[in-house]
Amino acid sequence: MAKKQFKAESKRLLEMMINSIYTHREIFLRELISNASDAIDKIYYKVLADNQLVFDKENYFIKITADKANRTLTIADTGIGMTKEELENNLGVIAQSGSLAFKKENEMQDGHNIIGQFGVGFYSAFMVADVLTVTTKAFGSDEAYKWESKGADGYTIEPCEKDSVGTTIIMTIKDNTEDDQYDEYLEEYRLKAIIKKYSDFIRYPIKMDVKGQ
Ligand code: ADP
Ligand code: MG
Repeated sequence: MAKKQFKAESKRLLEMMINSIYTHREIFLRELISNASDAIDKIYYKVLADNQLVFDKENYFIKITADKANRTLTIADTGIGMTKEELENNLGVIAQSGSLAFKKENEMQDGHNIIGQFGVGFYSAFMVADVLTVTTKAFGSDEAYKWESKGADGYTIEPCEKDSVGTTIIMTIKDNTEDDQYDEYLEEYRLKAIIKKYSDFIRYPIKMDVKGQ
């Protein structure tokens, strides 16, 4: 399978993320939850517009699973999902309106302030994870796809199995180093505190399951 390269701008932002300072790392969860919530909003409007469908609130939620033994943190949503093309377009490039455009306008040399204050999006997950695996099935599609990346060197996309519509992001959390601790992102109390701090207003239920102590 050929590895695809990120667009130049995305690559720079990625590098900024990967090397970000400690205090801003926690916002990755805000970004992934906000994307999950946006995806559920989109399916909600689709269902509203279709008289044949009923939006059953119970079926729409965000689920966060921490697995300490496997060092994975998973954010799953029952949102609109992505087609193969959308995966390619949305996760292979950084949106024009995003923080990088802002950074350029303001000629800021140091990206750190931006990470804390603005929506930096999906790639912020690389602040705490060294592998990101996204599986997704779009609303109205029978096909599911897996997007995977270890960071700046590119990503792969391949077909996969997925039963339900929506998107699942599996983060392989970085190992601790002498200077940096990442274990906290697998701890229930810590995840709950981050959610309370940044995502308290999210309209869909955020479920949590922590495996292993
Ligand atoms: P933004 O949310 O500002 O558009 P992001 O980097 O956070 O930028 O996300 C890029 C795009 O990837 C989103 O606009 C969306 O189209 C897509 N995306 C990301 N996460 C999801 C998800 N959980 N479900 C569906 N689409 C997603
Ligand atoms: Mg976003």
